Amino acid sequence: MQRPLIAVTPWYDYEKGVTYIKDGYCEGIIEAGGLAFLLPAVAGEDLLDEAISRFDGFLISGGPDIDPAYYNEVNLPYNGSISPVRDQMEICIVKKAVLQGKPVFGICRGIQVMNVALGGTLYQDIQAQVKAENLLKHSQEAPKWFPTHEIFIEKDSRVWNSFMRDTVRVNSYHHQAVKDIAPGFKATSRSPDGIIESLELENHVFAVGVQWHPELMWRKNADFLRLFSDFVDSCKKL
Ligand code: MN
Repeated sequence: MQRPLIAVTPWYDYEKGVTYIKDGYCEGIIEAGGLAFLLPAVAGEDLLDEAISRFDGFLISGGPDIDPAYYNEVNLPYNGSISPVRDQMEICIVKKAVLQGKPVFGICRGIQVMNVALGGTLYQDIQAQVKAENLLKHSQEAPKWFPTHEIFIEKDSRVWNSFMRDTVRVNSYHHQAVKDIAPGFKATSRSPDGIIESLELENHVFAVGVQWHPELMWRKNADFLRLFSDFVDSCKKL
C-alpha cells in the first residue's frame, strides 16, 4: 500500500522571503508511514482547493499568532507577530478539509487555527488574560523535548487512546490558548490550571489539535509518535 500524501503548512519569513519548516513535523509523518510535503506559502483559494482535493491529510504546524480580526477582536498590545499569508491559507484549509471529511492534525498554532477557523476564540495572552491562581508556565525555558507540565486527559478521546493514560507530561511553547471552543469541538485535555491542551472534532475521521509539540518529543519518547500514527492511519482510510 502506498503512503498517504500529507501536506504540511510552512513557516514564512517575511523579511528574508524564506519558506521553511522546523524539525520533527515531516520526519514524524514519515516515521508514522506517511509521505510529507511542504506547501508553498500561498493563499490563492483555487490553488488551495486543488491541494485539498489531492492530498490525503493536512498538518497545520506551529508558528506565530493569528490575527485577532479572525475572531472579531482588536490587536491587543501583547498579541505577537502575525503572518497574514499563513492565516489565510490555514484557515481556508481547515474549513474546507474538515467539511470534506479529510484528516487535519493541528500542532500548537495549529490547534488555535483549527479553533478559530471553525468559530472559536483565543486568549491573546495567557499571562495577561487568564485569572487562575495556579497558573502554570506555558512558555517553557528548558530543552525542547523536555516535558514541563502535566495534562489531564478525557477518556474516550483520541488523545487518551494514544497515551492510554489519564495524565501525561508535555512540553509547552505557547503564550496564547483556546478560549471559547468552536461548535463541534470537544476539549479532550487540559493542564491543571484549566488551559485547554487538546481539541477533537466529534464524528470526524480525524480532526485533532494539540497545544504541545509532539514533533519535538517523539524522538525521545515514542508515546508521542502515536498521534502521528493515528493521523497517518486515518489518511489511509479514505
Ligand atoms: Mn501548555
